[in-house]
Amino acid sequence: MISQTMQDAINEQINKELYSEYLYLSMAAYLDAMGLSGMANFMKVQGNEERFHAMKFYNFINDRGGRVVLKAIDQPDVEFDNVLDVFEKSLKHEEFVSKSINDLMDLAIQENDHASKSLLNWFVDEQVEEEDTFNNLIDQMRLINGQGHGMLMLDKEMGQRTFTPPAE
Ligand code: MG
Repeated sequence: MISQTMQDAINEQINKELYSEYLYLSMAAYLDAMGLSGMANFMKVQGNEERFHAMKFYNFINDRGGRVVLKAIDQPDVEFDNVLDVFEKSLKHEEFVSKSINDLMDLAIQENDHASKSLLNWFVDEQVEEEDTFNNLIDQMRLINGQGHGMLMLDKEMGQRTFTPPAE
């Protein structure tokens, strides 16, 4: 059985993951409008991953006899300064999510809740990857000054990303 405190905290996290899905879809819409369909594809796949994260928490609450409670999802940003700004905001957002996962882990440790700790370990590792992905893209975009032929090459490459649900 999951504690009420942990259940409430994970329900909040489900909201953050669903907001992430919405944010990345909004970024995809901005990139599609700019004609960068490869980068838009990358963001749509990222959004799919966020839905997967939300469902991983959803299933966990259910499996432990708890109750999933969905809340309103905030409107995401719709306007950005430029493409680099989109990816810098993505990195900032992932840093915020990492902090949130760390707080959940602190709570699990405090409650001596081993099942939650085990689930959260997966998310701790996942957040390292998420931040690394965006850091690398930002580095590459800075190298090519966020413009010109290099951006078109990068757009093409990012169009190759497909969604594969991470191993459970
Ligand atoms: Mg996530």
